[in-house]
Amino acid sequence: MKIGVLALQGAVREHIQQIQSLGCEAVEVKTLVDLTDLNGLVLPGGESTAIRKLLDRHQLMEPIRSLARQGMPMFGTCAGLILLAKEIVDYEEAHLSLMNVVVERNSFGRQVDSFEAKLEVKQIGADIPAVFIRAPHIASVGPNVEILAEYNGRIVLAKEGQYLGCSFHPELTDDTRLLKFFMEMVEDFHQSSLANSNSI
Ligand code: GLN
Repeated sequence: MKIGVLALQGAVREHIQQIQSLGCEAVEVKTLVDLTDLNGLVLPGGESTAIRKLLDRHQLMEPIRSLARQGMPMFGTCAGLILLAKEIVDYEEAHLSLMNVVVERNSFGRQVDSFEAKLEVKQIGADIPAVFIRAPHIASVGPNVEILAEYNGRIVLAKEGQYLGCSFHPELTDDTRLLKFFMEMVEDFHQSSLANSNSI
């Protein structure tokens, strides 16, 4: 499997290393050609407004939306979740506007209030370490969104079909269970694409 990691700004290297540790190929996505032949895409944490500006400058918004329409699995972590969301509290416009969630930015305090917590995650397991850094939370979800984890009564991990989004940074820990869960989504998409192409 070949996974792209959007590499315009933010926590890119850690995602690349974690993907490689599972024996998969990881590619830094900076320009249009880097999106070729990917099986899945990770949108990392960083600063969503900065990443958005760079997405526009590198003309990557529409190509990523087009891959989404083809069903490509996408995993947004922290700022990446904000990029995926269809709505952002107090903002008129969303960014990629793909996942049916409303997110609120900087919900857990300032940079100095960054912290690590252990989460109970549905379908995955207990004691999943999660690093929160000026993290957003999911304020509400649409009808087809599965809530997978909450922290202090706030939604911090959810899945809607091909999209997985979390408030925190799973790539800053040694626990790869969440990434493995995403890789299963990628594998399912790959198998169904093969089945479709064989039936033509
Ligand atoms: N606060 C950042 C934003 O709004 C997200 C922080 C992060 O990705 N760690 O984009």
